[in-house]
Amino acid sequence: MFADVIIDISIEKLDRTFQYRVPEALKDKVYPGAMVKIPFGKGSRKIKGYVLSLSETPVIDESLIKDIEEVPELTGESGAEEQLIRTAFWMKEHYGGTLSQSLKVVFPIKKSVKEKKTVNIVPLVKPEELKKAAEEFGAKHNTARERVLTAISESGEIDASLLMSKLNVSRKVLEDLSDRGFIKLEVLREYRNPGMKSGKTGGVLSLSPEQKEIYDEFVKDYEAGIRKPFLIRGITGSGKTLVYIEIIDYVISKGKQAIMLIPEIALTFQTVMRFHERFGNRVSYMHSRLSAGERYDQYERAKAGDIDVMIGPRSALFTPFKNLGVIIIDEEHENSYKAENMPKYHARETALQRAEIAGASVVLGSATPSVESEYRARNGEFRLFTLKNRPGGGALAGVSVIDLREELREGNRSMFSGKLRELMEDRLNKDEQIMLFLNRRGFAGFISCRKCGKVIKCPHCDVSLTSHRDGYLTCHYCGFREKTVTECPSCGSKYIGGMRAGTEQLEEQTAKLFPKARILRMDGDTTKNKGDYEEILSQFKDHSADILIGTQMIVKGHDFPLVTLVGIIAADMSLYASDFRASERTFDLLTQAAGRAGRSERKGEVVIQTYSPDNYCIETAAEQDYEGFYEKEIVYRSLLSYPPVSHLLKILIEGKDEEKVRGEAEHLADLLKKDYSFLSGEAEGGSVIGPAPDVISKLRDVYRYVFFVRDRDYEKLVDAREKIENDRRSGSRYDTQVTFDFDPM
Ligand code: ADP
Ligand code: ZN
Ligand code: ZN
Repeated sequence: MFADVIIDISIEKLDRTFQYRVPEALKDKVYPGAMVKIPFGKGSRKIKGYVLSLSETPVIDESLIKDIEEVPELTGESGAEEQLIRTAFWMKEHYGGTLSQSLKVVFPIKKSVKEKKTVNIVPLVKPEELKKAAEEFGAKHNTARERVLTAISESGEIDASLLMSKLNVSRKVLEDLSDRGFIKLEVLREYRNPGMKSGKTGGVLSLSPEQKEIYDEFVKDYEAGIRKPFLIRGITGSGKTLVYIEIIDYVISKGKQAIMLIPEIALTFQTVMRFHERFGNRVSYMHSRLSAGERYDQYERAKAGDIDVMIGPRSALFTPFKNLGVIIIDEEHENSYKAENMPKYHARETALQRAEIAGASVVLGSATPSVESEYRARNGEFRLFTLKNRPGGGALAGVSVIDLREELREGNRSMFSGKLRELMEDRLNKDEQIMLFLNRRGFAGFISCRKCGKVIKCPHCDVSLTSHRDGYLTCHYCGFREKTVTECPSCGSKYIGGMRAGTEQLEEQTAKLFPKARILRMDGDTTKNKGDYEEILSQFKDHSADILIGTQMIVKGHDFPLVTLVGIIAADMSLYASDFRASERTFDLLTQAAGRAGRSERKGEVVIQTYSPDNYCIETAAEQDYEGFYEKEIVYRSLLSYPPVSHLLKILIEGKDEEKVRGEAEHLADLLKKDYSFLSGEAEGGSVIGPAPDVISKLRDVYRYVFFVRDRDYEKLVDAREKIENDRRSGSRYDTQVTFDFDPM
């Protein structure tokens, strides 16, 4: 038997393997993923490598193949690497693709860093003087300089790239402030995290009883060696972050390290400061301004034991800590935790796996947990804790739901209900801020009646049908087609069609209605360049505008103390996206949007405009009743066998020749349909659905078909993937490409 061994996981070509013979005596110890010691190169240097695969056939002259020397016992020594390799194997199994694709995800490729240098901002004057200067800049509407000086007055010495990224200021601004003598820009040769305050011991705030209970239970479990994951469901502002900080502190006191995942846009400068205050230079951040080289550097520092905490998006999960104690995932319901490219892994599931391998705990937190996580918590797989109060104060916003059908009956065909218009006027008079939100994501042309609110749905899948130019409505799960309708099948009204409103149109109408208001718009078009997004948010925060109009982008993160009104123009838009998660996403968006209003002492109001005020999603969101939503939603999921009650594998077939793509999709779907005995069986909820053209049926001249496999047992889907991959290996079918998406989002 022979083993293909990779020798250095940081080399550029991970696919490059070397073949070694497996000696009889080691046969039982060598398996894909095992670490082995092998002789390498001219001097037969003894180095370590990892087995990728096993085979019976030598690829070169057999006499030239050397023997594997040793399979060392797993020790803590190379802990991180070993654990990450095992994680990569698990990812390959559970998400498909090649091993090297998975390895590339867990090990960042070493890029030659030209010269390791970081720039440090060192304040040259006292904090009070910085604050005073900041105010002066503010008075002159020089908001970038104001932001920087305010931040530095609080933070002290700080890493320039982190500050530029989180405050969205350019290098120029820093140089100017340096010329004016406020700060010094110090170039460091070696990467080190700027000192700042050395980290305080113990919290300044004492935990509330709710918070303390979670912390105490965590410690109790941890001490007892229990690693059951925690799910913290806590409204925004309920003090989740403080709980995370205390948990991390505890884990560090045990000599362990912590990873905290947080979507990049939710990691605000204030949050960064809170971690820095506690952990000083023992915490590091992954953020979008880091180059590949700097990113690699961060990993190296973790490996060397220079830091204890890594905070960042999805990719921070693979920080090579030797003694990982906890992985925290904030905003665990976020879509950004799912990778877009192969392997399409979910950071939450992968974190659970990595934690298990490392013997670490997992803590998930969200104001609106994913239906998946809530389901697992209720089934006893996670420990569920709730935070219901805001220890820092601040009331929840009041929410009113406006029935757009009624507005139409009264002759109002504009995008603003009477109530919203009235409230906007009021806020503008008070010089307070307004956010208007129009969700278009996942919006793919569903058809609805504006008189009665009926939405045309697939009779088989209960997702909305999508209208196509050819005059047909189609279902993107099962391929069902019917002729488009011109009259409402429910009430006979002719006011039936797609909702075509966009943010641009909303901006126009707003400007017409309130000619004096200063308006900012944020959507795909206004955020094409790097930094646009932060720039718009900064301007709004600086009160350079009264109204911010946008898509779901404006809903997350950032606090705007002056925002006291949030208008949701058409809640239905995301509600009827042709996706089984549409309600969940809408509930989350509405709750988050409501959370934007009234974060300070001023009480906020939210107006939700909708054609379906009786929909459970809208009703429960208006009451900010997560449990009410969940209990209805899970019934729907279980009736239609959607995740998390069942599991779904999406198989996407792509290629330039439509006939071949459809042919391959049909062939593969048939393959599973003919021999579905391996699935749990039709009766128990195993089935193959489709094929059908994908929601995006053609992209850059590439045709896309999909079909789905559904089963209550996730492992059966892994089997289905294997069957497909095996079938594709026989016979060369290079003109089509297949990708897998497990429990797609
Ligand atoms: P979340 O992460 O759930 O949104 P945070 O941890 O950011 O909540 O807390 C929201 C606000 O409440 C912050 O300003 C924080 O300082 C404050 N806060 C949190 N916990 C406490 C506490 N135990 N006592 C007083 N204030 C607190
Ligand atoms: Zn109707
Ligand atoms: Zn269907």
